[in-house]
Amino acid sequence: MDTKTFKRELQRSENYHRKGFGHEAEVADTLKTTYQSHLIQQLRENQHTLKHGQITIRLAEAFGFCWGVERAVAMAYETRTHFPHQRIWITNEIIHNPSVNQHLRNMQVEFIPVVNGEKDFSKVGCGDVVILPAFGASVQEMQLLRDKSCVIVDTTCPWVAKVWNSVEKHKKIQYTSIIHGKYNHEETIATSSFAGKYLVVLNMDEAHYVADYILHGGDRVTFDQKFHNAFSHGFDPDYDLEAIGIANQTTMLKSETELIGKLFEHTMLQKYGPQALHQHFQAFNTICDATQERQDAMFELVEDPLDLIVVIGGFNSSNTTHLQEIAIERKIPSYHIDCAERIGPGNRIEHKPLGESLQIQEQWLPPGEVVVGITSGASTPDKVVEDVIEKLLLLKS
Ligand code: SF4
Repeated sequence: MDTKTFKRELQRSENYHRKGFGHEAEVADTLKTTYQSHLIQQLRENQHTLKHGQITIRLAEAFGFCWGVERAVAMAYETRTHFPHQRIWITNEIIHNPSVNQHLRNMQVEFIPVVNGEKDFSKVGCGDVVILPAFGASVQEMQLLRDKSCVIVDTTCPWVAKVWNSVEKHKKIQYTSIIHGKYNHEETIATSSFAGKYLVVLNMDEAHYVADYILHGGDRVTFDQKFHNAFSHGFDPDYDLEAIGIANQTTMLKSETELIGKLFEHTMLQKYGPQALHQHFQAFNTICDATQERQDAMFELVEDPLDLIVVIGGFNSSNTTHLQEIAIERKIPSYHIDCAERIGPGNRIEHKPLGESLQIQEQWLPPGEVVVGITSGASTPDKVVEDVIEKLLLLKS
């Protein structure tokens, strides 16, 4: 499918909107009172540090809402203002934050129901307004909504759209896109829908396996089992890994994406030699600035003498879990929570260790003086961070 032409035509349609509706001033106050925080502002002005009783809070230099998320949330609020009486849907969580999604529900923005693991668009009517979230939507969903004559409000972050452009470039020259990401993450589902042939690799281990297959071949059945669901229809590793381009889910660990790019460049260099490298390998930098800044700030934060770190963000938020990985690497005890209500009653926390289910830990804050590092993912409002800090201060006051 010519996704580029489809996108161009969709963007020309009068039913398609990818900028706000000119209601910025009307929604600004609501956004400020709902998501911003006076306490966080004070911390920013005080070298990101707060000492109170026996606790010192060290807040990362860069954390929380990125501009792509701020833009998407503001567009959703503007959409409600612009279409006060129309039925409004959203194809998925606008961002991975439960409180933000709940606010949208309270504004009568409906989420497309999921039935037996599939989204059910049957209730979406002709002329309904449908918001596409910050991490985008697949080209098939866009087609379906266009065919239903829906009004589409596209809040896809431009950084995500940049990755779509990269995989379309690979497709044009018939290269296979190797996408560093989670094959079932909404952003990667959308990205792969714009690709031609693709293979999604989750981490260095998987990348090494693929690199080894490129150099030495391997067992096709094992390959298929290992990457089941993570490659395009009809993908054949014996033919489709001869020319590859690198792309990524924007919120992956930047250092890992870079290493994967280098690994495949080196692999193709080894196999085809320097003269022919460009006929077999392409890479564009598509890690978003916000993800990079939050990861860099976390690397700085873990240099401080901290007793523990609280990482705040949705449990399905990729960029948040990568922040926690940095704490784990440095062997600093870390607690991933999605809201302040996970703390208490008393000195107890309900948190999600990386790759595990929710767990309750009693006496999680050590006695005496304690230094707590705090960061939050790109989809976490300052208000949520404030609520968490207030709970901590109460526990140690
Ligand atoms: S994390 Fe990056 S790609 Fe994702 S919404 Fe924010 S700015 Fe856009």
